[in-house]
Amino acid sequence: MADRRRTPGSQTSLREANRGRIVDAVRKHGGLTQVELAGVTGLSPATVSNIVKELSESGVLSTSKSMRSGRRAQYVTLAHTAGLVCGIHFAQRHLRVALADASMTVVSEHEMPLARDHRSDNEIRRVGMLVADMLESVSADRDELLAVGIAISAPMDSASGMIARPGILRGWEGIAVRETAERTLRAPVAVDNSSNLSALAEHRLGALRGQGDAMFVEVSEGIGAGILVGGHPYRGASGSAGEFGHMVIIENGPICRCGNLGCLEAVAGGEAVVEGLKPHYPGLKIGDVIVRAMAGDDACIRAIADAGTHIGVAAANIASMFDPERIVIGGHLARAGEMLLGPIRQVVDRSLATRLAPPPEIVAGQLGPRAALVGAIGLATDRVSAFPAGMSGTVELRAALG
Ligand SMILES: [Zn+2]
Repeated sequence: MADRRRTPGSQTSLREANRGRIVDAVRKHGGLTQVELAGVTGLSPATVSNIVKELSESGVLSTSKSMRSGRRAQYVTLAHTAGLVCGIHFAQRHLRVALADASMTVVSEHEMPLARDHRSDNEIRRVGMLVADMLESVSADRDELLAVGIAISAPMDSASGMIARPGILRGWEGIAVRETAERTLRAPVAVDNSSNLSALAEHRLGALRGQGDAMFVEVSEGIGAGILVGGHPYRGASGSAGEFGHMVIIENGPICRCGNLGCLEAVAGGEAVVEGLKPHYPGLKIGDVIVRAMAGDDACIRAIADAGTHIGVAAANIASMFDPERIVIGGHLARAGEMLLGPIRQVVDRSLATRLAPPPEIVAGQLGPRAALVGAIGLATDRVSAFPAGMSGTVELRAALG
């Protein structure tokens, strides 16, 4: 093997790199046999066997015997001796589920699309089966699942665990989300609005670290925001604060899914951007708009910039009321980077130029579209008092990076 020909110094660093490859592969697949690990990492079976043994002894990996194609095999998973938590993000059009250990390190993660008018009871049942499969894939029993955090892309009443405002996510209205999920997942469940959880995740691990008064704006299919006051989410009287996407930006403008006319989301949300480009490009998705814009497509660049300008107007209005220090832009459309952030920043700076205080910084989120999922994992770990306190920053960052 190549590693035997190296000098002793580089052999040590190569061994480090090989350890990293094995841990990453196990995390990505949830669990693998040693033979499968050799296949996906390209390392020799002997190297895999040595490293797995070493990492099992140091408590990083855990092994169990299993049968594969009629043969006995050594099945390898990440160690999770202190139990597991589950984070779930129900967005408008997709679902993310992750199992994480006490240090918020993700041990298994899945993403799948959701139908436009999906029903909450069907989806919670589907998640129940998925979580059971994921627990099995990491060789964990049901009772090792200690708590679940759910992020929902709609205003939530965290006391009742129900949607706080009708019209935003129709298939979820009138459903006791927390109780239904607790019955299905057989673990304590906490629910919150996805933008609040994204704001908390960016505050804990990302672009809002150390920021007390700040705002997180999610620009995905729809638009939402989480407002932090003194480092805590501002929820309002009924839990529907931060419905940034449903501020009226064009009087008598296009109809919004909430039934109102001219909401920011109906003008600048990902679905509106895609809709506006349909005459040019039928069948386009948000990701395609960004790829085309990055390749220099004028119509796509213009559509993203126009969305940014509208978001900027709304952000400037919020900023003059709340005076946030920083506004973080996240969600799918934020992958467009400065093509979206530049126009937002220009409008905010111009609108607030006459104030004495400096305008808020407009920066990209550091956790990407997974921010709400990371926030949901954090919500679950906060509910588990049995977990050892004092998680290190390094460990938290590992969770953020997945
Ligand atoms: Zn609306």
